[in-house]
Amino acid sequence: MRHSSKNPLLEVSQFASDGGQLIGRDPRDIPLEHYIGRSFLVGLEAVRAKCLDCAFDPKEVRKCVQTDCPLWPLRMGCVPKALRKAAMRAKTLRRPSAATTPAEFVEAEQNPDDEAENDAERAI
Ligand code: SF4
Repeated sequence: MRHSSKNPLLEVSQFASDGGQLIGRDPRDIPLEHYIGRSFLVGLEAVRAKCLDCAFDPKEVRKCVQTDCPLWPLRMGCVPKALRKAAMRAKTLRRPSAATTPAEFVEAEQNPDDEAENDAERAI
């Protein structure tokens, strides 16, 4: 593997279109020792840190109006109760796509009989 001697998290691109420029390595393939000395966060802490980086101030993160940003529902550093409930339900149904369709979840909450019928059909 070819990487910059200064930053082990970068490598020379293997893609001809990049003309030999340095690009970020695939984080899934980077051994732990290459992260030593660097601060890194995972999960919701990373989301919160990104939002603070973006908006500069916790009050501005709270007031963020960019509702199309994929991080928006998580910007307070936790999973909202309603989405957590939908995700748990999706896990139960072993239907991960349900976690990304809150409209389906709301509809199922409002029409539990329909959903029971759908579950029965799925089980067949
Ligand atoms: S949710 Fe708002 S504050 Fe967070 S990254 Fe997106 S735009 Fe920035």
